[in-house]
Amino acid sequence: MKAQEALETLAQQIRGCTRCDLYKGRTNAVPGEGPVHAEIMFIGEGPGAREDKLGRPFVGASGRFLDELLEQAGLTREEVWITNVVKCRPPGNRDPQVDEIETCTTNYLENQIKIVNPSIIVTLGRHSMNWFISDAKITQVHGQMHKVGRRFVIPMFHPAAALHQSRFKPMLLEDFAKLPALLEEARAALGKSKSKKTNRKK
Ligand code: URA
Repeated sequence: MKAQEALETLAQQIRGCTRCDLYKGRTNAVPGEGPVHAEIMFIGEGPGAREDKLGRPFVGASGRFLDELLEQAGLTREEVWITNVVKCRPPGNRDPQVDEIETCTTNYLENQIKIVNPSIIVTLGRHSMNWFISDAKITQVHGQMHKVGRRFVIPMFHPAAALHQSRFKPMLLEDFAKLPALLEEARAALGKSKSKKTNRKK
């Protein structure tokens, strides 16, 4: 099966998923989106109210801020993959639970990662970070590259945290500003050249 088809098949499975109780409260599941061979994948926590309504990731207040952060790094939404550790909105925006993360990630996120095969995964928030680096503290490791298997994981604060607590904002801005250099570093370490399938802004 071609990569694009495989991603679409996963998205269909996610839209009909009943593997954990989160499906009971959803309007729409939010599989994630982006170009099939994106070099960078952003992974947040779970859909909020607007994401649940529209079936798309990061389209509310956090999403608008994420767009600004991407622009600062010379990136656009169209050239990165964006998804979450859980694909259905937790009730009242509570934190996703360990069993929900485990179920959703092993069935869906891990397959999405295998297919897209990004050089860098940017985790947004601690739930997403802890899936890859279980014992890390975000205040200590944010903005640093960690080799995990055949790719690099860079933990970052969640955009919502920076919107609600202004002390996180400069750190998040600084981490995003480093992203182009970290991408070069990751490419060199992985022996990959710049992807021709994306339209990087000059
Ligand atoms: N917060 C997240 O973690 N993910 C979204 O898609 C939106 C807000």
